[in-house]
Amino acid sequence: MADLEGKVAVVTGASTPHGIGRAIARRFAREQARVLLVADRTEEQLEDAARECRELAGDGNISSAIVDLGVPGQPEAMIEKALAAFGRIDVLVNNAALRAPYDFGEYRRATFDRMISVNLAAAFFASQAALGPMRAQGGGRIIHVTSQLAQVVAPQRALYGLTKAALVNLTKSMAFELCRDNIVVNALSPGPIATEPLKDMGLTSMRELYEGHGGAAAPKGDEASWNDDLLDRVPIGRLGEVEEIAEVALYLAARSPAFLMGQEIVVDGGYVLR
Ligand code: NDP
Repeated sequence: MADLEGKVAVVTGASTPHGIGRAIARRFAREQARVLLVADRTEEQLEDAARECRELAGDGNISSAIVDLGVPGQPEAMIEKALAAFGRIDVLVNNAALRAPYDFGEYRRATFDRMISVNLAAAFFASQAALGPMRAQGGGRIIHVTSQLAQVVAPQRALYGLTKAALVNLTKSMAFELCRDNIVVNALSPGPIATEPLKDMGLTSMRELYEGHGGAAAPKGDEASWNDDLLDRVPIGRLGEVEEIAEVALYLAARSPAFLMGQEIVVDGGYVLR
C-alpha cells in the first residue's frame, strides 16, 4: 500500500508551475493521497496543478480551492473545504508564502500586516482549525514550510525572515502541546530552490502585492549579481530541486517516526553551514 493511500492532505501554495507546493502535491498524489490544492490568485495554474495530480491519484481524489489565506477566517474556511470534499484531514502543509524584498527602512505597515497574515497567521489558524478533525481521527501531521532564512539573514529579507523564524518557533510550541494527541508537527526549511520566484526574486508577485496595498516603490535588486552571489553561498554548488523538498515533505507527512517532532529540517545544500 502506498504511504498516503486514503489519507487526506491539504497543500497551500500549490499552484506555481515550478513551485515547491505543487511538487509536494504531486508527490503526495503519487502516493495515492487525496489532496486539496490551494492558491489565491493563480487559478489557471492551480487547475493545471490539480490536473497533474489527478493523473497520478485519480479524479475523485484531487480537489482545488481558491482561498486568500491572508484574510481572517479564510484559513479556517480552507479546512472546512477539505472536510467537505474528503471528510477528514490527515496532513496539513502550510507552504503558501509571500516575499517582500525591500530595504528595512522602506517597509510600510500595510506590507508588514499582509506578510504576517499570509506567511504566519494563515499557518497558525489553519493548523488550529485542523486540530479538531485530527484529534477526532486519532492524529495527524502538520508541516510548516519555512526557509533557511529563518536561521540566517540576507539583504532585503527582514520581513520574510521574521515570518519564517516565527514559524520555526511555532513549530516547537505546537509539537510540544499536540504530541500527546498524536499530532506530529515539524518545520521543513528549503534553501535556495530552482523555482520561478527565486529566479526573479519574487518581483512579479511583490509588485501586485504593493499595488494592492499602497506600499513602497517597486522592489529593487540586481538579479544577475544576486544569483551569482547566491550560488557561491551554496556549498553543494547548485540550487535545490523542488522534488528534493517534496521527498522530505513525504517523509515528514507519512514516514518519519512520531518521536521526530518540533524540529526544523533544513534542506539547503549546506547554505546555513557557514
Ligand atoms: P511560490 O512563490 O512559487 O508560490 C507561492 C504559492 O503561495 C503560490 O501558489 C501562491 O499562489 C500561494 N499564495 C501566496 N499568497 C497566498 C494567499 N494569500 N493565499 C493563498 N495562497 C497564496 O513559492 P515557492 O515554491 O518558491 O516556495 C514555497 C515555500 O517555500 C514558501 O513558503 C517559501 O517561503 C519557501 N521557500 C522557498 C525557497 C525557494 O528557493 N523557492 C527557499 C526557502 C523557502 P497565488 O499566487 O495564487 O496566491
